[in-house]
Amino acid sequence: MGNRQRIRFRKIQPKKPEHGKSVDEIVRELRGASPSSVSDYREQSLRIHGLICAKCGREFEPKDRNLITVHHKDGNHRNNPSDGSNWENLCIYCHDDEHSRGLLGDYLQDNRGRRTR
Ligand SMILES: [Zn+2]
Ligand SMILES: [Zn+2]
Repeated sequence: MGNRQRIRFRKIQPKKPEHGKSVDEIVRELRGASPSSVSDYREQSLRIHGLICAKCGREFEPKDRNLITVHHKDGNHRNNPSDGSNWENLCIYCHDDEHSRGLLGDYLQDNRGRRTR
C-alpha cells in the first residue's frame, strides 16, 4: 500500500565546464607564475635603485630597509618591469606623502612604519 515512489529532485549542479581553466591553473595565476612575483619586486627595486629615497635623498642602512618602500610610478602594482623603470624607492614618509590623498597603499599599513613626526 505505502509503495510510494520517492521523487528525487535532481538539481542541476552549477558545474559548467565553460571556462577551460582547471583549479590548478587558476591557483597558478593567482600566485603569479612569472618569475617577478609580487613579493619579489621590492627586493629587485632595492637592488637596482639602492636604499635611497628618490624624493628626499635620504640613505638607509640595510638594517633599516623596512623604511624603504617601492612606489609604482604609474600607480599600477602589476606593472613590474624587471629593469625597474616603474619603480621608485621612497622612504615611508615620502611615500606617505605621495599617496596623501587617501590612496595609501596597503603595504604601508602592513609595514606599520608610520610614526608621529
Ligand atoms: Zn624620503
Ligand atoms: Zn606608491
